[in-house]
Amino acid sequence: MCSREPPEDHRICVCVRKRPLNQQETTMKDLDIITIPSDKVVMVHESKQKVDLTRYLENQIFCFDHAFDHTASNELVYQFTAQPLVESIFRKGMATCFAYGQTGSGKTHTMGGAFSGRAQDCSKGIYALVAQDVFLLLKNSTYEKLDLKVYGTFFEIYGGKVYDLLNWKKKLQVLEDGQQQIQVVGLQEREVRCVEEVLNLVGLGNSCRTSGQTSVNAQSSRSHAVFQIILKSGGKLHGKFSLVDLAGNERGADTAKANRKRQLEGAEINKSLLALKECIRALGQNKPHTPFRASKLTQVLRDSFIGQNSSTCMIATISPGMTSCENTLNTLRYANRVKEL
Ligand code: ADP
Ligand code: MG
Repeated sequence: MCSREPPEDHRICVCVRKRPLNQQETTMKDLDIITIPSDKVVMVHESKQKVDLTRYLENQIFCFDHAFDHTASNELVYQFTAQPLVESIFRKGMATCFAYGQTGSGKTHTMGGAFSGRAQDCSKGIYALVAQDVFLLLKNSTYEKLDLKVYGTFFEIYGGKVYDLLNWKKKLQVLEDGQQQIQVVGLQEREVRCVEEVLNLVGLGNSCRTSGQTSVNAQSSRSHAVFQIILKSGGKLHGKFSLVDLAGNERGADTAKANRKRQLEGAEINKSLLALKECIRALGQNKPHTPFRASKLTQVLRDSFIGQNSSTCMIATISPGMTSCENTLNTLRYANRVKEL
């Protein structure tokens, strides 16, 4: 069915998750144009118009490491994406998980679950599920003797600038030293001792994230949010899991109408998502050179793209509706390219 099997690379896993039609789409009688015929295949039934204006459906097929339909839970998605990477950070690895897709397609739902700042309400996203497994593994006899401590950071990248979500959105400088080590100067690292403390950090960061003048979704959809769980031994970095809720990938549908600020935002997002694709591809192809300097996002995530100990997963989230067809196809093509040799 698929023209090409994804390459056997266990360091990069690319998955797609389709969300259910929402209330608004159902009311508008939007059509569900996505089917997931097997756990690796996504089919898009694109509506096309012939010269004589009759409509027909054109099917497009994409293959991934996993494809999840609208009935999949966060736990199931987690099992096939971030969970297999968790143990690597105890073995000095750098793990990264990206949620990529159009605004409203389910990135934040996947990463954070439902946010209210209350621990019990955020218990279902990938942030919480990773934290759960980290604290379980910490008690494992193999790792207990390492005497590891766990820290959390949470920051946002907007317009090529880094803002600390655990410190009232303080703007931070990113510096690169002679050894190409990247430092986000002054980034708050908070020690966490249990899942609840991690969720409190997420809650704090989110309340900070949404406190700007612009409306909640408008703001958050234009920025990348990076939540990191860091292991340290004797004060030194041991391993790191970065969980990234990317900015919406939609091209300003009405670029002509968009104001200058929006256009600049869009250009910056485009640049960083292109750089991200190239960096993950470089990791997959074991290229000696990783173009991480091409954007702030890839620069601060440099550790994720280099070395034998880095592994990455991407969850491309898609909306099911016909009205989102173009964005959905763009998302699927991008996700496909990330792994293409
Ligand atoms: P994004 O972060 O990509 O902009 P959200 O995660 O905020 O999108 O999702 C938009 C809306 O759709 C939210 O109300 C969310 O709860 C809902 N949603 C997203 N994915 C799912 C899903 N898999 N199942 C049920 N509801 C979902
Ligand atoms: Mg979001």
